[in-house]
Amino acid sequence: MSDLQELYQSLILDHNRSPRNFGVLDGADRHAEGYNPLCGDQVALDLKLDGDRITEIKFSGNGCAISKASASLMTTAVKGKTLAEAEALFTGFHGMVTGTAVPADPKATLGKLAIFAGVAEFPVRVKCATLAWHALHDAMK
Ligand code: ZN
Repeated sequence: MSDLQELYQSLILDHNRSPRNFGVLDGADRHAEGYNPLCGDQVALDLKLDGDRITEIKFSGNGCAISKASASLMTTAVKGKTLAEAEALFTGFHGMVTGTAVPADPKATLGKLAIFAGVAEFPVRVKCATLAWHALHDAMK
């Protein structure tokens, strides 16, 4: 197994076992939900904004390890970011996992999220990995 695969597996397991920012946010400014019928993954997302900055974000729901780990990592990535910065991460992440627009240097552009690059090889898993991101995209509109 390559180093990247090992890192990928350990991060997925870690975030699946102890998801970050898990729960419901009281007094959220934005809310969105997503459902992936292919796998049965469900996610609900709450955001608090200060101007155009995401100050708080929480997710809840049920799903497979990849959907949960991706939601957890997404919340840690966009917390504290402006909506424009979060949108740029969404675009970069989406392009990478769908294989449609892979950033030249995923690690520089996406940080830890780059571990999901391998998902592009498993088309049925792409919707699991992008579910929370699509919910974020909806919540930001
Ligand atoms: Zn799934």
